[in-house]
Amino acid sequence: MLDVEAVRRDFPILGRTVRNGRRLVYLDNAATSQKPRVVIEALKHYYEHYNANVHRGVHTLAEEATEAYEGARAKVARFINAPDSRSVIFVRNTTEALNLVAYAYARRELKPGDEILLSIMEHHSNLVPWQLVARETGAELKFLDITEDHRLDLSQLDRLLTRRTRIVALTLMSNVLGTINPIKAVARAAHDVGAVMVVDAAQAAPHMPIDVQDLGADFLAFSGHKMCGPTGIGALFGKLELLERMGPFLGGGSMIRDVHLTYSEWNDVPWKFEAGTPNIGDAVAFGVAIDYLEGLGMENVRRHEKELLAYALQRIAEIEGLEVYGPKDPEVQGGIISFNYLGVHPHDVGTVLDSEGVAIRAGHHCAKPLMRRLGVVATARASFYIYNTKAEVDAFIQALARVREIFSHVP
Ligand code: PMP
Repeated sequence: MLDVEAVRRDFPILGRTVRNGRRLVYLDNAATSQKPRVVIEALKHYYEHYNANVHRGVHTLAEEATEAYEGARAKVARFINAPDSRSVIFVRNTTEALNLVAYAYARRELKPGDEILLSIMEHHSNLVPWQLVARETGAELKFLDITEDHRLDLSQLDRLLTRRTRIVALTLMSNVLGTINPIKAVARAAHDVGAVMVVDAAQAAPHMPIDVQDLGADFLAFSGHKMCGPTGIGALFGKLELLERMGPFLGGGSMIRDVHLTYSEWNDVPWKFEAGTPNIGDAVAFGVAIDYLEGLGMENVRRHEKELLAYALQRIAEIEGLEVYGPKDPEVQGGIISFNYLGVHPHDVGTVLDSEGVAIRAGHHCAKPLMRRLGVVATARASFYIYNTKAEVDAFIQALARVREIFSHVP
């Protein structure tokens, strides 16, 4: 079990007040998480004690920075049960990780007639790069739909997955619906037709145990900033044999073994994909964030959020005139609730909640095709993390009642 009060004490920002002197109730964790003191301290410690460029220095600071940077890579690898830390590439975020696969793998491998299978619940980060690949290579995009209860509709999988499918790219957890997708089953089916399985774990990695081997992921992408780490650092896992076969993403320093005037030879994996000076300080602090989460235990993190979600779903059902999206089942849903007050724009909901100290998100959540499929332009979204409490869910529900009062004239 999580000791939530102890966890809360680790996050300095949770002590602050916001509008109207209200204590902050932070329910925008799907956008980005708050940072524990150990992570903030790790950044400061890096810059105060061993800031140096990695890999090429012979002096003490360079050696220490390199050791810490490569140590962080090993922590990321362990966190997702990658068999080898060379399978982990540091990138800026999930978006860059998915673009890396699209550019360095898909663009070179795919040809006209090939197919890429996605779902309609994808974040733009796991959609637009594939649109670019399709345009560039002549490959065709196919989409899995969602069911009535907002799960991935697998009834169409056999029809949509064909010998022409080269890539299946799906989110492990929807950032709008919270739906946790059965990636393991889809990966098995994808491999049966010779396709490569790309997993967007931006929402899943912060909230549940991830095992790339058990999932059958060929590539898996996630961002540090959603899991207690700094912004500007994320990771791409790739199977070694694929990474070794691939050409580089960006060219420049560090990614080469030798350079001549008219050609170059590439460095080994993973450095072949890390051109230029990497984000050393943030990578080190990302490693500390992973230590912190592992200290809590990812099973405990998931259990805590399941409980919060079950409680929030039960309480939100009490409110009239509210449409709630997603499976509404904590067994297949992360700590995310998207909803709409009938007749009230989600931005107005967000603004009223903010005046009560409750931070949620309102908008299309970078999932416009999903919005269209749901028949809405936007939703309000509350999303939980390790430091949220049932009392905060109560504050959220109370603030929703305030929305009803203010907009009582709305039929
Ligand atoms: N995929 C999903 C499911 C997400 O929720 C997000 C972030 N909202 C991303 C991808 C993109 O993450 P980032 O902005 O950190 O690149």
